[in-house]
Amino acid sequence: MGTRLLRGRVLSFRARPQGADDGDSYVYHDDGAILVQGGLISAVGDYAAVSAEAGDAVTIDHRPYLILPGLIDTHNHMPQMQVIGSYGAQLLDWLNTYTFPAEARFSDPDHAKRISVAYHDAMLRNGTTTAVAYCSAHQVSAEAYFTEAEKRNMLMIGGKVMMDRNAPEAILDTPKQGYDDTKALIEKWHGRGRALYAISPRFALTSTPEQMEASGALVAEHPDCYVQTHLSENHKEIETTLALYPDAEDYLGVYETYGLLGEKSLFGHCIHLSDRERAAMAESGSVAVFCPTSNLFIGSGLFNEAVMRKDNVRTAVATDIGGGTSCSMLQTMAEAYKVLQLQNQNLNPLMSFYMMTRGNAEALKLTDRIGTLEVGTDADICVLDSRATPAMALRMEVAETLSEELFVLQTMGDDRSVASVYVAGEPALP
Ligand SMILES: [Zn+2]
Repeated sequence: MGTRLLRGRVLSFRARPQGADDGDSYVYHDDGAILVQGGLISAVGDYAAVSAEAGDAVTIDHRPYLILPGLIDTHNHMPQMQVIGSYGAQLLDWLNTYTFPAEARFSDPDHAKRISVAYHDAMLRNGTTTAVAYCSAHQVSAEAYFTEAEKRNMLMIGGKVMMDRNAPEAILDTPKQGYDDTKALIEKWHGRGRALYAISPRFALTSTPEQMEASGALVAEHPDCYVQTHLSENHKEIETTLALYPDAEDYLGVYETYGLLGEKSLFGHCIHLSDRERAAMAESGSVAVFCPTSNLFIGSGLFNEAVMRKDNVRTAVATDIGGGTSCSMLQTMAEAYKVLQLQNQNLNPLMSFYMMTRGNAEALKLTDRIGTLEVGTDADICVLDSRATPAMALRMEVAETLSEELFVLQTMGDDRSVASVYVAGEPALP
């Protein structure tokens, strides 16, 4: 692995910003540098100081671009790359009409491999170096996912979905098969290289109580794995779920009954939660994952960030492709801003960039490895150009502060703004 000195405008976060001008929340070096050795960050700071200890490292000059931690996407679906932008349906119709048929094709290992390659390319082109993904119910789809991540040495988290009802036969498993396949995948992949496993019952609606019980057993047997599922996205989904689980106190109560809550549990959407559900999320340290482009596109509703914060619910942010419309975390934050505007909440640019980097790393309990640019962490880095398009360059002529620049990037930026990406210190842009 090479030793490299990356020079540019270096920005990272120390803590969650307490307001639009919270200068203590971030570290910024206008002429900064990061020294990368053996896949890790070995020094970071002003260029003059870091270059003095860089020895014969190759210098890569990224000025005037911004150098940030690689972006993190905490919820998306690898088999839905060809579902993005499918017209005219709310959640349950959207699943039945577009998503389930697309996922059925993932029993074919060649198709799974081809889409997994395209998916990882898309992540990197958008500056995303870590994602948490659902694969299809087929074991081969998770194999294709982890194999491709390993080839690129990416820290990727994922799992095959478990689902044994309310979907076409071709994408169902059974409680026993879902358990056995998941167990085998955990044993093979969790902690191998940089891979981490997420136990993935799709949602209560597509799992029988027997399968939920098997999911709970897997969580109890593998407490160091993540858990991912969907929660309270759409009113019809909630109604159907409660009819399927008549004894449950509420939607979250289903997952609670089977022991799926916890600090490594990621619940996608969480749009229509009750007070009790938010209290139980907070108490268990579970994470509510905000997926703005998906929530707007499928018409599911508006994520209430302020009430989550008031009730101490941990949060993360994600694309949720293919319900989401863009693989770009920048575009995701552009829509997050609008979702909160509609509720008279302000999402300031420092907060947006914190959320895509350190915030999501905190949600995943991975700040010792990614999302911070701290010495000793993995050198997963993205380099952003805030003048990537003519319209952005024109707009940037009058931007005076770092915050203004960040807001232009998140509002107008996308994959065209990603100038370079490093994964464990190596150039990784496809
Ligand atoms: Zn999802």
